Amino acid sequence: MPKIKRNTYPWTNPYDPKMAAVELNPDSFNALLRAKGVRVQHDKAVACPNYKGNIDSGNHPIDCPFCKGQGFVYYDGGEFTALFQSNTLQRMFQAQGYLDPGTALLTVPSELEDKQTIVYLHYFDRLTLLDFEDRYNDLVQRTNGITDLLRYDALKVEYLSTANAQYEEGKDFIIDDNGNIEWIVVDRPGRNELPEYGAVYTVSYLYRPVYRIVQILHEGRFSSQKLKLPNLTPRRYPQQVIIKKDFLCDKISVEDGEVMKQPIVP
Ligand SMILES: [Zn+2]
Repeated sequence: MPKIKRNTYPWTNPYDPKMAAVELNPDSFNALLRAKGVRVQHDKAVACPNYKGNIDSGNHPIDCPFCKGQGFVYYDGGEFTALFQSNTLQRMFQAQGYLDPGTALLTVPSELEDKQTIVYLHYFDRLTLLDFEDRYNDLVQRTNGITDLLRYDALKVEYLSTANAQYEEGKDFIIDDNGNIEWIVVDRPGRNELPEYGAVYTVSYLYRPVYRIVQILHEGRFSSQKLKLPNLTPRRYPQQVIIKKDFLCDKISVEDGEVMKQPIVP
């Protein structure tokens, strides 16, 4: 990408020069974020362009192959260290498990660590915490195949049990490349009698938390720096956003890139 041209200006101040500005140094602030923050993967979101007919038609296929039905496609992004704070949790209990619609504040550096690539944030951008995991509880119905889909990509299963028996990771099942349960023993959750469906089991596992930007608090933090007097350099300052946990992530298969869906009748 060609570099964006930045201007410099001769700095002449017609006012009382005793009123010296107190400067926030973005480099020091970025360094502080690097020291105290957490590693984040940033994926930039744009609306899917796969529309039929007029742009206002709203005619975007629900099973769109381009965005996998998500409505967004992602590009670029990068990895940075950001300060994660004020995480608030409100718990909701549903039959499928606990849902935590948590929001948090994220303070993001103005540039990536190359000190050149500016971090441009926007609504719905996807942020994944790379070094942390959260716990999620799923109720799963045993399918006919050897693989049962979990809602998110499991990193580690802490607990898995039917009403009759308990199963262990590594002994009874493994986590496959897509973060699903893959049974390695024949003696696994069976099928219920009348009505005949796969047995239901409860599973508690760890997964990588994904957040979305829902509000941009400090977006355009434009100021200027007088680094090499008498010149003035326009400078973008670190940004702060409110993020919300994404509980509607799709599972994309590592084999064919398609969205993985639980069979309707297991
Ligand atoms: Zn689409």
